Amino acid sequence: MTTRPARAVSAPPIPFSRPDITEEEIDAVTRTLRGGWVTTGPAAAGFEVELAALVGGGVEAVAVSSATAGLHLALEACGIGPGDEVIVPTWTFTATAEVVRYLGADPVVVDVDPVTLNLEPAAVEAAIGPRTRAVLVVHFGGLAADTAGIAAVAQAHGVRVVEDAAHALPASRDGAAVGSAPHSDAVVFSFYATKPVTTGEGGMLTTRDPAIADRARVMRLHGIDRDAFDRYRTASAGWAYDVVAPGFKNNLPDPAAAMGRVQLRRAHAMRTRRAAIAATYAAEWAHLPLDLPASGRPDDLHAWHLFTVRLGDDAPVRRDVFVEALARRGIATSVHFIPLHRLTYWRDSLGLQPDAFPVAEDAYGRVVSVPLFSAMTDDEVTRVVSAVREVLEA
Ligand SMILES: *Cc1c(COP(=O)(O)O)cnc(C)c1O
Repeated sequence: MTTRPARAVSAPPIPFSRPDITEEEIDAVTRTLRGGWVTTGPAAAGFEVELAALVGGGVEAVAVSSATAGLHLALEACGIGPGDEVIVPTWTFTATAEVVRYLGADPVVVDVDPVTLNLEPAAVEAAIGPRTRAVLVVHFGGLAADTAGIAAVAQAHGVRVVEDAAHALPASRDGAAVGSAPHSDAVVFSFYATKPVTTGEGGMLTTRDPAIADRARVMRLHGIDRDAFDRYRTASAGWAYDVVAPGFKNNLPDPAAAMGRVQLRRAHAMRTRRAAIAATYAAEWAHLPLDLPASGRPDDLHAWHLFTVRLGDDAPVRRDVFVEALARRGIATSVHFIPLHRLTYWRDSLGLQPDAFPVAEDAYGRVVSVPLFSAMTDDEVTRVVSAVREVLEA
């Protein structure tokens, strides 16, 4: 056996995100696998009940395979179809708009608020036209948008409201948890690998409207009026089912749901850790030539899914150089978002012009999201703090 020559040990790279998975999640998934029921079943049903209880408001919850699927099902249940328009912010992930196209409808893309980068009621009001049927509200970075204000505008025009809460578990505004849907028709969470609560892939739709819950349940599984687990449980006529619509295949398998149930129990503790890291960043970078992300009103709960800074005009480097400088120091970053109006398909199919989106245009050139996840070690936080200071104090 040969010994390797000694060499300098450099710190391992810090990823943009790393899932916070403990032995509890691993045990829960293992038990599900040993139990022999690996598609949607009792764990998914339990996950739905527990998420509904966590957000409150007496909502029903429908577990799905992704937030994209959940948004599609929510708009389908709201009756969105060809010829309809759905308002979406340009400051979002493409999934928010693509589900509108799945239904043959047209997204109407609007600019966002310069402080929060969320959709604002006035912008929604200005975008409402005779074909407008729904608005999709995104809670950017985990900071709850003014859904009540948007809903007041929407309801006056008979427009439905669906919340894209992919970043916002747990979060609250005016004492109401995002997901409890006091002002909207439905709320959709994502459990994608990088999101605050993860099942690898997955999502959940919540609603106070039993008609939306029922329709989403039927459409998530082929338009069948009862799911496979119900058939399995029923002693007689287990083969019997009916199909009431050409549905989709959007159900969440039990091993993922089992992981999600543990993640849900840890959701507030993980948020507390992210909030503490965000507070450290804010304090350590207060003097730097950058704008910190909006922290929200003191009584609201910010999910702190993202920590997105905006480089100032007085910063010594532009955004792309900043990203490279951090990468050289072993720190991965991301850009949230490339606005929809800058993506080829949306720009060309909707004829979007950059000058219609002055806020997003300005933000896009400056934004960088730095690592913020509950599994970050103190050492990793310190390294991110120092690296950003090193690059911007230069
Ligand atoms: C991640 C994300 C989605 C899509 O979530 P999936 O679960 O991957 O489908 C939708 N909207 C926003 C704002 C997101 O960040």
